[in-house]
Amino acid sequence: MTKKTVTKKAYAKVNLGLDIVGLRGDGYHLVKMIMQTIDLFDVLTFQPAERPGIFLKISEKSTIPDVADVPTDGRNLIVKAAGRILEKTGIPEAGVEILLEKHIPMAAGMAGGSTDCAAALRGVAELMELDLGEKELAEIGVSLGADVPYCLMGGTALSEGIGEVLTPLPALPPCGFLIVKPEFGASTKEVYGAYDRLMPEEIRHPDIDGMTEALKQGDLSGVAARLGNVLEPVTVAMHPQIRTIEDLIRRSGVKDTIMTGSGPTVFGILPETIKDAEHAAEKSRCISEIKEQLKDAGIPAQVLIV
Ligand code: ATP
Repeated sequence: MTKKTVTKKAYAKVNLGLDIVGLRGDGYHLVKMIMQTIDLFDVLTFQPAERPGIFLKISEKSTIPDVADVPTDGRNLIVKAAGRILEKTGIPEAGVEILLEKHIPMAAGMAGGSTDCAAALRGVAELMELDLGEKELAEIGVSLGADVPYCLMGGTALSEGIGEVLTPLPALPPCGFLIVKPEFGASTKEVYGAYDRLMPEEIRHPDIDGMTEALKQGDLSGVAARLGNVLEPVTVAMHPQIRTIEDLIRRSGVKDTIMTGSGPTVFGILPETIKDAEHAAEKSRCISEIKEQLKDAGIPAQVLIV
């Protein structure tokens, strides 16, 4: 008999805009961010296990270079999410096998862990035939990570509070994304810590309201002109190579570029055409060219176009 199988795609995000508007008593930052799902995803497959427990394996089809660093124990948000859903079944002997095919760069500001977490909440609930509402899933989600409620929802959205107050926005007009993830990482904790030490006059807030308006007007160039991330100068001060990456992206003809999350990934907005199949050759030429230039600049990086 074939085992029941549930498969979920877990999409990455970028921040078209990221602002910090306050600090909560418990140290969480209050944010105002415009989140955008991109066409880059991990694939999670769920099957019932023969014995109680959560058994996470990493698929050989994974494409990220540092796949060996993906934790498969309780540190992985997938395991945490599965645990929370299994608890809800009330069946002590329930168990689940999960296969993770990892394509989203890690520690990149692309919500890789959070989106896997969201997919695991949905996937295990479906496997166990638990009928959990969106509100309940989002409540479990936010207790595991501030970006998880957005990842459950996806699309284009304004994210406020600590990330749990979500307002869907009109979809970004069709376009592509050039994504550069340097091999070095940026510690989210250190970036936020350094941000907290800035003087108010050192902070440049992006125009999130203007970007929201541009999205409502379906105005891609209005959105592109307002790409902004309040954390960028902080991460750049720690890793000046980020500025070099942006200069290089601009020199390649992509003028609108910004860092996502707390970094270090940088993305640029492309006209729709470059991601079409008929432009496959142009796309791979562009990727190898940028990769080569980055290597020459001493910044080895993953380069993607989605
Ligand atoms: P965000 O944009 O939410 O800040 P991120 O892209 O910066 O996320 P993640 O890719 O989520 O960061 O990974 C950060 C760390 O979380 C990793 O170094 C890893 O140890 C841990 N982690 C937990 N679960 C996962 C997962 N499913 N995939 C990758 N990393 C995970």
